[in-house]
Amino acid sequence: MTDFLSTGTLPEDYRDLALTVRDFARQVVAPVAAEHDANHTFPYEVVAGMADMGLFGLPFPEEYGGMGGDYFALCLALEELGKVDQSVAITLEAGVSLGAMPVYRFGDDKQKQEWLPQLTSGRSLAAFGLTEPDAGSDAGGTTTKAVLDDGTWIINGRKQFITNSGTDITKLVTVTAVTGTTGGKKEISTILVPTDTPGFVAEPAYNKVGWNASDTHPLTLTDVRVPAENLLGERGRGYANFLRILDEGRIAIAALSVGAAQGCVDESVRYAKERLAFGQAIGRNQAIAFKIARMETRAHAARTAYYDAAALMLAGKPFKKQASIAKLVASEAAMDNARDATQIFGGNGFMNEYAVARHYRDSKILEIGEGTTEVQLMLIGRELGL
Ligand SMILES: Cc1cc2nc3c(=O)[nH]c(=O)nc-3n(C[C@H](O)[C@H](O)[C@H](O)COP(=O)(O)OP(=O)(O)OC[C@H]3O[C@@H](n4cnc5c(N)ncnc54)[C@H](O)[C@@H]3O)c2cc1C
Repeated sequence: MTDFLSTGTLPEDYRDLALTVRDFARQVVAPVAAEHDANHTFPYEVVAGMADMGLFGLPFPEEYGGMGGDYFALCLALEELGKVDQSVAITLEAGVSLGAMPVYRFGDDKQKQEWLPQLTSGRSLAAFGLTEPDAGSDAGGTTTKAVLDDGTWIINGRKQFITNSGTDITKLVTVTAVTGTTGGKKEISTILVPTDTPGFVAEPAYNKVGWNASDTHPLTLTDVRVPAENLLGERGRGYANFLRILDEGRIAIAALSVGAAQGCVDESVRYAKERLAFGQAIGRNQAIAFKIARMETRAHAARTAYYDAAALMLAGKPFKKQASIAKLVASEAAMDNARDATQIFGGNGFMNEYAVARHYRDSKILEIGEGTTEVQLMLIGRELGL
């Protein structure tokens, strides 16, 4: 572990990991990405491959079946996967950073023993149930309720847009719910809900603009009964705990976004050298070369932003502002680069089987999920005392 990370001087173990995941992304993920995107199918065989490599256990200690790495290692893996397939990258990001991490950070020994080995091995997935139809950016507006009755939580409510919540290997969703009031204020807690609990339903998957191979569902919870000990963390601290998870998650989303931004650069460089127009490669035109140079600049600047936020986090220093900055610039870099890459590819850029067309559809959500661009600006402003 290091508190100084720079793009040119990665320690060997980090570099080896990035190169291993890069190979996997090229050899296993890329060949099936267009097909899963077109058919809107969850890539079970790719997820199994990531599980075999230990990617779901990257930032967790070995005693829970993890790889004993850290959050930056996860980010490097997400960057490599994000270059070729954002759906696969978000499946890993949500599985680790939103699914398993709340159990690791806030679970008691029994909860960790029960859930972490299956989550860190990638045999099972957990999902993060925060957003509701009337509570998105303002997630504290949750109306899902949990009432404690004779040692049992009875949960009723709806969740919206929940990643990894309906796959064949999804075994757990952690939900926020109002569990009472304290001093006239809503008390929000987090509760572990195994997906085979009667009354829990993952409704049919959404028909999305992008991230078509990622699994996203609305959830309904009708008189869902789970034992009192399924409370995750302290009663009334659920919202605060989830916000902490989202702070970290923004670094991970930034890394994924940098991957997307860089993937667009790599594809564009290759295409600009090969594609001929007016008797020469299109990259010989300065208009194209400048466009790609700007794309590379965006990707590099965004990478340094997420490295910086990760280094602060690993060093145990405050990183909230830097995480929001990284998420903001990286998601914009991905979207801007996807638009420019599509232009460089001309008509081919509008054909779904091309990776840049997929990045064009996939990148928009990066500016929305885990806190919209406006929410990042709000958080950065707050950190500045505004
Ligand atoms: C594919 C996908 C996967 C997702 N996965 C998950 C998941 O696993 N778990 C989960 O809990 N959630 C998940 N989400 C939800 C996601 O985090 C929310 O969609 C996001 O936080 C925005 O909330 P919202 O959609 O309700 O938009 P709203 O909050 O309704 O916002 C609408 C618009 O208003 C703007 N806005 C709102 N308030 C302000 C303000 N005060 N000032 C300025 N502008 C403002 C927003 O920035 C946005 O542009 C996912 C969403 C998608 C699409």
